[in-house]
Amino acid sequence: MLYRSTRTNFTATSPEAILMGLAPDGGLFVPARVDFPMLPWEALTKKELPEIVSDLIAAFFPELAPLSRSMARRAYEGRFDDPAYTPTVPLGDNLFVTELFHGPTSAFKDVALSLLPHLLAASKDKVGIGEDITVLTATSGDTGKAALEGFRNVPGTRIVVFYPEGGVSAIQRTQMVTQTGENVAVAGIRGNFDDAQSGVKAIFRRYGPDSGVRLSSANSINIGRLVPQMSYYFKAYGDLVKQGAVQAGDKVDFAVPTGNFGNILAGHLAHCMGLPVGRLICASNANDVLYDFIRTGTYDRRRPFIRTNSPSMDILVSSNLERMIYFLSEEATMLKKLMENLADKGVYQLPRDLTARMQALFYGARATDEEAAAALADTYRKSGYVADPHTAVALHAAGVYRAETESDRPIAVLATASPYKFSRPVLAALGENAEGDEFELIGRLARFTGVPVPAGLASLKNKEERHKDVIEKEEMEQFVLRQIEKKL
Ligand SMILES: *Cc1c(COP(=O)(O)O)cnc(C)c1O
Repeated sequence: MLYRSTRTNFTATSPEAILMGLAPDGGLFVPARVDFPMLPWEALTKKELPEIVSDLIAAFFPELAPLSRSMARRAYEGRFDDPAYTPTVPLGDNLFVTELFHGPTSAFKDVALSLLPHLLAASKDKVGIGEDITVLTATSGDTGKAALEGFRNVPGTRIVVFYPEGGVSAIQRTQMVTQTGENVAVAGIRGNFDDAQSGVKAIFRRYGPDSGVRLSSANSINIGRLVPQMSYYFKAYGDLVKQGAVQAGDKVDFAVPTGNFGNILAGHLAHCMGLPVGRLICASNANDVLYDFIRTGTYDRRRPFIRTNSPSMDILVSSNLERMIYFLSEEATMLKKLMENLADKGVYQLPRDLTARMQALFYGARATDEEAAAALADTYRKSGYVADPHTAVALHAAGVYRAETESDRPIAVLATASPYKFSRPVLAALGENAEGDEFELIGRLARFTGVPVPAGLASLKNKEERHKDVIEKEEMEQFVLRQIEKKL
């Protein structure tokens, strides 16, 4: 199946698109609309998560279809700490939480990053590439660890992760710098997530397919990450049918804690495949560039970058938005222009008709740290459920959406991290003592909730810090080249 770039007519087969990550023209790979795969959505909603993922692989990456079942099994079976993989929990009042954090690193990124190494290895074989692939990743906290864990010691691959020093939680940092494996490298950069991401993109532009250096990406710009993320929308919908919240065919709204727009875009793709989705509620924290964009059609990144209690959503340039605009417009020439405006001036304006179409599908809402903390406390008071600060932003957004639209449809709030990854702000929101080191706080939160601490977090305390580099953003390229020189 052919994928095309959002910015020019460049095309690639699905294994090639997975290997490249980003198209050489700087655009993102999308299935051309005429090729958009369709599956019977209702049948998908009745399956278990690995089966759904397997069906999605076969549909979107048909060249890899013979391996789809075994890849999905190896990615998920025995690696998640809940037999339902992404269980949906009722909170009452037609509100549900779909927990996406039961993977090895306790963040929703595990759903995609447990699979991506298998997709990359299979793509490498399919295309007939002998040399090692170096996976470059910029992280706002959760991608880095999930990618390190996914790629650790996968033959023929090497992974390099950059995180903003001081821009991730202490637990997230510890998770990354203690990573074991022979093929892994981690560095903090002096800058924010957008600096890390644009540094990675610049390295990609310099080392194209003909440079002799084989790079790929584990960021959500890789189409190989987007496709498995569609799975839990189908699964959540099926769970709501099973729980009697809807009848098959009724619409469900989803509230999604959003940063790079990958998670919510997967919901849009599921909708394109026929899943009865009402609105996708795009929940932003104080970095509210998407909120403004959805309300006005103007994307304006010229604003201060704010560090919040939901660091995985501290993003001013949401890469996957480009794909959403492509799906709405199918106009690569326009997109190239918009993205040039963004790069040169920091702002672009979506045409009015497209803005209206976007608003019919997406609803933008935002929460300050205080509003998210209030939503967290309120949810706990009403239902006894303890959410993490990212999920709390979406809980607040769901409330704003209901109040403004008076919709009575069920809302599934996607829970993107375990509260134990962010114990300090969670305890503070609950009015508990939030003083002490991160590990003390995890113990205190566990006593409060009675929910066991995920194994990967419980074992962190005694691990050795192995990756201590902190570099300037200008040094990222050299850092990558040094890793490539090391033999695997
Ligand atoms: C990555 C992440 C998000 C944002 O997801 P996007 O796909 O980048 O929009 C939200 N919450 C958590 C906990 C994350 O790790």
